Amino acid sequence: MKLDARIPAGPLDEKWRRHQFEMKLVNPANKRKHRVIVVGTGLAGGSAAATMGELGYEVDSFFFHDSPRRAHSIAAQGGINAAKNYQNDGDSVFRLFYDTIKGGDFRSREANVYRLADISVNIIDQAVAQGVPFAREYGGLLANRSFGGAQVSRTFYARGQTGQQLLLGVYQALERQVRAGTVRVHNRHEMLDVIVVDGKARGIVTRNLESGHIRSWLADAVVLGTGGYMNVFYLSTNAMKSNVTASWRAYRRGAGFANPCYT
Ligand SMILES: Cc1cc2nc3c(=O)[nH]c(=O)nc-3n(C[C@H](O)[C@H](O)[C@H](O)COP(=O)(O)OP(=O)(O)OC[C@H]3O[C@@H](n4cnc5c(N)ncnc54)[C@H](O)[C@@H]3O)c2cc1C
Repeated sequence: MKLDARIPAGPLDEKWRRHQFEMKLVNPANKRKHRVIVVGTGLAGGSAAATMGELGYEVDSFFFHDSPRRAHSIAAQGGINAAKNYQNDGDSVFRLFYDTIKGGDFRSREANVYRLADISVNIIDQAVAQGVPFAREYGGLLANRSFGGAQVSRTFYARGQTGQQLLLGVYQALERQVRAGTVRVHNRHEMLDVIVVDGKARGIVTRNLESGHIRSWLADAVVLGTGGYMNVFYLSTNAMKSNVTASWRAYRRGAGFANPCYT
């Protein structure tokens, strides 16, 4: 297998923005002609489904829990890092990028980590707009704390339940799109297989966990936001449903799978 991360060309701090600018856009009127399957409704899959629904795509969202709120993301506690430099303690996008690369033992993909640091600033605003109740100073400004060994205070948090509050924000955004008719939610559906056409994922096979009914679904694109798989280890702080079912099935159909110790 040829591993190709398809990292865009150009200087580190411009790669993704330039790539985004050079990408072919889909006309708003044409978006509803495209169907996207999203598997998983944690912070990753849930927000992807809600955002694409809001953009106008036809989205089918699948997950094996009874409600999107049951995803493991509900358990994240500490907070979310963003280089907003509210504390004026020397933080910057580059410092968040550098700290994240260092925290990952210099093994992460630099271009992708830079993008994470770059858009971290907007993610907080998006979550606040969705109603996520981040902790605030007495004066009303968003509070920050230092977390995970960082030398600056850049962690936005909601007591010890940041993931829970973020997931409720995602859930609300998702339900809004369900009501708007752009997202269809299929709970208690386990992804059994990926349908690959000409090397591209074009659908999935699911089992309805209540009726046992097995069915295939087709789309223009498939997004897997199926989370970690720490329960392959004997001990784990993850929810019991953080298993390897989806990633293993995608791997069997040809998806790249590397560094399984990094869960
Ligand atoms: C104790 C703990 C504390 C943490 N604290 C923090 C923190 O403070 N800050 C931070 O940034 N991160 C934290 N993390 C990490 C963070 O919680 C996870 O990285 C994140 O929640 C993963 O989100 P996700 O959307 O990828 O997956 P998940 O939330 O696990 O969602 C997976 C989704 O996929 C679905 N799914 C899986 N397999 C299938 C299948 N075969 N068929 C159908 N559906 C399927 C599930 O139903 C679920 O909806 C913490 C993790 C742990 C364990």
